[in-house]
Amino acid sequence: MTQLDWGPAVELLRDAGEVTLACHVSPDGDALGSMLGFGLALRARGARVVASYGDEPFAVPRTLAFLPGQELLVPPARFPAAPELMVTFDTGSLDRLGTLGEPAKAARRLLVVDHHASNTRFGTVHLLDPAAAATAVLVAKLLDRLGVALTPDVATALYTGLATDTGSFKFAATTPAVHRLAARLLGTGFRHDLVSRAVFDTASFGYLRVLGTVLRDARLELDAVGGLGLVWTVVEAAPRRACGVGMDEIEGVIDVLRRATEAEVAAVLKEGDDGTVQVSTRSKGRIDLSVVCRALGGGGHRYAAGYTSSVGPTETVERLRAELAGAPHLEA
Ligand code: AMP
Ligand code: MN
Ligand code: MN
Repeated sequence: MTQLDWGPAVELLRDAGEVTLACHVSPDGDALGSMLGFGLALRARGARVVASYGDEPFAVPRTLAFLPGQELLVPPARFPAAPELMVTFDTGSLDRLGTLGEPAKAARRLLVVDHHASNTRFGTVHLLDPAAAATAVLVAKLLDRLGVALTPDVATALYTGLATDTGSFKFAATTPAVHRLAARLLGTGFRHDLVSRAVFDTASFGYLRVLGTVLRDARLELDAVGGLGLVWTVVEAAPRRACGVGMDEIEGVIDVLRRATEAEVAAVLKEGDDGTVQVSTRSKGRIDLSVVCRALGGGGHRYAAGYTSSVGPTETVERLRAELAGAPHLEA
């Protein structure tokens, strides 16, 4: 476990009257849950809090619509241009803030709370722990050090981050301490069954149609990744839109594809409405995907990483294949 110096972050926040929060674009449960949980907790101690992320049009992902604290959100156009004190969550680099990268650069003090191994240390104060299962873990520890009690709403938000980033408490980073934190959060009495249903067990019928199509068209390449195998598929924009499915609904495709036992690496290429391709990758541990995806302009973790590509699906998969072919094989 990384030894963190909590002092400077606690110092920044202890008497803060106004705090401006941001998380990465296209927020997942950890990004939005960590930010809103932290925002609710600070507001309860009297701070004025605004929170946002650089998505335009600005909307809360449908799978996260249950999250408390959305009254803290403002669209990026209403985000302060030069905040006195800004905090970022689950964001490995400035570009992952989208248009909120400018206010981050202009902020007088910038606290970066994150668990990406690829974090570029773009703040003035950092709470970074690549061993943390989720940014929500770091937020919970910070709130403890600030002496803020956990309410059911704060716990709902942080639990969402913890449950999503551990794949429902399944991934390697799920330590005894993660379960102890989960137990503390559950102790506040919120409806964790409704959280799990919303984030893991809810989909539109249109999504199931899209899932069927992209699984049917998936490719298995046994010789790829130096013989360890690659399984990949493309979620094209037009058929996705025809089924009424947004980019925020297809995050779970990778969790089905990555089960293929024949392939060390799984990749889902998700074509956005603007033609760029968001790539999700997962490994079973023998390939460090944070390194692979960083080389392709993105980042992430060893087992789960991603990047955005602007060259179209065919060229994108060729470049990915080439990068994976050269990646060192690690012990699982
Ligand atoms: P995802 O496949 O979208 O669930 O993302 C898996 C991991 O890769 C997350 O930790 C993300 O933060 C990281 N990641 C995904 N997309 C990008 C990107 N475009 N740039 C940098 N990191 C990314
Ligand atoms: Mn994230
Ligand atoms: Mn995270």
